[in-house]
Amino acid sequence: MRRTGPVEIVRARDLSEALRSLSEGGRALAGGTDLFVRMRQGRESPPFLVYVGELPELRGVREVAGGLEVGAAATHGELLAHPATEAYPVLRMALWTIGSPAIRAMGTLGGNLVNASPAGDGLVPLYLHGARVRVAGAEGEREVPVEEFVLGPGKTALRPGELVRSILVPAAEGCRAYFRKVGRRRALLIAVASLGALVWVEDGRIREARLALGSVAPTVLRPREVERALVGRPATPEGVADLRDALSSATRPISDLRASADYRRAVAGNLLLDLAARLTDGLTLR
Ligand SMILES: Cc1cc2nc3c(=O)[nH]c(=O)nc-3n(C[C@H](O)[C@H](O)[C@H](O)COP(=O)(O)OP(=O)(O)OC[C@H]3O[C@@H](n4cnc5c(N)ncnc54)[C@H](O)[C@@H]3O)c2cc1C
Repeated sequence: MRRTGPVEIVRARDLSEALRSLSEGGRALAGGTDLFVRMRQGRESPPFLVYVGELPELRGVREVAGGLEVGAAATHGELLAHPATEAYPVLRMALWTIGSPAIRAMGTLGGNLVNASPAGDGLVPLYLHGARVRVAGAEGEREVPVEEFVLGPGKTALRPGELVRSILVPAAEGCRAYFRKVGRRRALLIAVASLGALVWVEDGRIREARLALGSVAPTVLRPREVERALVGRPATPEGVADLRDALSSATRPISDLRASADYRRAVAGNLLLDLAARLTDGLTLR
């Protein structure tokens, strides 16, 4: 139903005040780049909004033992400007592709995560790093692995009254990072398919590979059989060529306005060859 009047926005001063308002039926609002669009389209009509974008508990980025803790309300622009994210090139590569400078200035990683779109570019690096979501609610806090947090398009493991406080991103050292998003235009593009990867190469062979695909299944996908099959292979396009079809088959895409399911499957497989081609050029991928 399309809303005709304005919607009330509650400005919470701290986390406990925000949690109280959420438990009364409010809906979290951070940058509004997803939520306002959905409300304008009449796809959502929350009774009132609880602005969480400036809650001190949800702000900032800090280095913690073994990784990074990103406040849910950190914007993509803030993350890209923060020196601590330099050691997370796949996160930076993915965030650079989100929207436009204006969208990156407003949109947050927490909002990208809770929006739970299979095309959510911020999700791909979170899957690759095995991120954990720190959830806060009236009962206290809990941590949920990102793959258990995202349940499907627009669906998460958040319970009523809960919010995402931060995202814990474990470090990954000594690997090469890759991210490529394929779309139908050069700017403001939504992925037809995307592939992110962290690959450890030793003496020209793949020692470990983590892959995450966007826009080819109901959630971001880690094709673990293909990851395992890559181990021990020469880090060259020829060395992995026969896995192209296996990667295509691991996807479960839909056909929509942007691309057919068959096209998405083909692009996913081709991205594996593109990744391998870049492993041979001797660069640490950025
Ligand atoms: C023109 C345009 C281009 C875009 N391009 C891209 C793109 O290239 N790639 C991409 O991935 N996305 C893109 N987006 C989508 C959007 O910008 C991102 O998903 C952004 O990260 C959403 O963050 P936000 O802070 O604006 O979320 P909001 O709109 O504020 O919220 C989104 C959802 O998350 C919930 N939420 C927000 N914060 C919390 C929290 N801390 N705890 C619990 N729930 C919370 C809200 O209730 C809502 O359901 C685009 C959007 C627009 C309008």
